[in-house]
Parts: sequence; C-alpha cells; structure tokens
Amino acid sequence: MEKPSIFQRLMSYLLGTDKKLYREVHIDREVVEEILQIARESYPNEFAAILGGKVKNGILHIDGLLFLPGETSDKGAVMNIFMMPLVDEGVGSVHSHPGYNGSPSSADLHFFSKNGLFHLIIAQPYNHDSIFAYNSFGERIDFKLI
Ligand SMILES: [Zn+2]
Repeated sequence: MEKPSIFQRLMSYLLGTDKKLYREVHIDREVVEEILQIARESYPNEFAAILGGKVKNGILHIDGLLFLPGETSDKGAVMNIFMMPLVDEGVGSVHSHPGYNGSPSSADLHFFSKNGLFHLIIAQPYNHDSIFAYNSFGERIDFKLI
C-alpha cells in the first residue's frame, strides 16, 4: 500500500483556509532566503512547509513559513501533521523537488486544486531563478519580493 504523500498530509491543515481572491503576491525576502537555504540543506531529500500570510486589499502577502514537525528521509519528508499547532494563517504550500524540474506533478496539481491559494515549488539549483509559483489551478503566476 502506498504511503500518503506529504501533500495529502499537508492537506488537512490547509483545508480550513479561506478561499480569498488576490491579484498580486508579495513574499518577504527573508522567507524566500529561508526556503532556498532549507531546500539546499535538505537535498537530496525534499522538504515541505506551509506558507503563512494573509490577503488584504487584493494582495496576498506571504510573511512566514510554518513547519511540520518530523524528520526527512530519502523517501521524502516524514511528517506528523497531528502534532501541528493550529495553522490558521496557512495560505498555501512550498516544497522542493530534487532535480531541475519545477513543474507540478499530477499529485502536486491535485493538491493545489484542493488546498490553499498559492504554492511554490523550488527545484535545483535552489536559487531565485528556480522558484516556481502557482495558483490553485497549477498556472504559473508572478510574485514580488518585498
Ligand atoms: Zn512536487
């Protein structure tokens, strides 16, 4: 039997997220730096986290990362979502891909459609040019570092 993916596990935490409309995404620069650093340190394992933020005046502002406690392994991050504190401010997800492909897998697309507002995939070499942002439909969207 297949183990539930990170995204299936993340899902229950994002299900409560309000589906609010936004037309722009702003991400705090230090959040992106943190993501890049963790992706590099986790390699060849993948990592996943919840993006924290809120929508105000049509702008989705991502200002934090919320981690799921757990360990990583070469089979992907092993996480215990049941230990998570409430993540009311969760608005989406970020995960890394080992490899250079930042396109969502079919499992990713399914997850995006069901959870949150905004998703990041970071591929190798884990720099600013290898961060890919998607909306719930799995469409590439832009974001601004602030
Ligand atoms: Zn993926």
